Amino acid sequence: MVSTANTVRFGKVYLVGAGPGDPGLLTLKAKGLLEGADVVIYDALVSDPILAMINPYAKRIDAGKRRGRHSLGQTEINQLLLEQAREHGTVVRLKGGDPFVFGRGGEEMAALLDAGVEVEVVPGITAGIAAPAYAGIPVTHRDCSSSVTFVTGHEAAGKYRPTVNWAALAQGSETIVVYMGVHNLLNIVAALTAAGQPEETPIALVRWGTRPEQQTLTGTLATIVQQVETAQFQAPAIAIIGRVVDLQPDLMLGSPVQTPHWSRGIT
Ligand code: SAH
Repeated sequence: MVSTANTVRFGKVYLVGAGPGDPGLLTLKAKGLLEGADVVIYDALVSDPILAMINPYAKRIDAGKRRGRHSLGQTEINQLLLEQAREHGTVVRLKGGDPFVFGRGGEEMAALLDAGVEVEVVPGITAGIAAPAYAGIPVTHRDCSSSVTFVTGHEAAGKYRPTVNWAALAQGSETIVVYMGVHNLLNIVAALTAAGQPEETPIALVRWGTRPEQQTLTGTLATIVQQVETAQFQAPAIAIIGRVVDLQPDLMLGSPVQTPHWSRGIT
């Protein structure tokens, strides 16, 4: 929507990406906005060290939405954003990773613009790139992956588009990065292998990527479901599927579930 002279504007909302957890990955722009904020409305995946950067006098609102523990629905969040923008003028809406990558940032932006609230987006580093990177996995590589697809493993109910075409991904994308895929891993693996993806294709799951508690589980499409069960490996995690997983340096392959190299003192 383009604002015109006739459009009455109420307040401004910054849709800010907080990155995957390591506070060092926050952008300078995001840091400045948190330090100057009057109101910050944040999601469950925003890490504590980043919440600690918020202006101590700012009003903080936890809009956390974790699987099975929805504290606020999307309509309520949109309403809250509108109310706070009207009341306080400037609001920071802080989201894990990047606001526009599986973050519902597009929905919030549309709702705000429709209501005459100005919106500015501050991109963040998305977990689908940062978690593999901290596990030593490049999502593309000249020798073995010229394409990467970011995909949700948790299809939203009532969405307008058809379901993810896993068969097309099995054939067409050398690296597949799955968000929200842990609960649905069995079905994802089945869909990929049914479409011809070899069972020996490497896969890694990176949990709490970039945080001190980061863990990586590495296997193949044939083994990973059992490994997840045995290790009781849980969300939130990013799954990386493809030959790039084999590029993970040997130093990081010491145990089936690994802590990050930097927390073990290896640089
Ligand atoms: N907007 C976020 C993604 C939100 S969807 C982004 O750009 O990163 C939520 C999913 O993101 C989680 O279920 C998980 O799959 C992934 N995720 C977010 N933070 C993560 C982290 N630190 N480590 C691993 N996965 C993470």
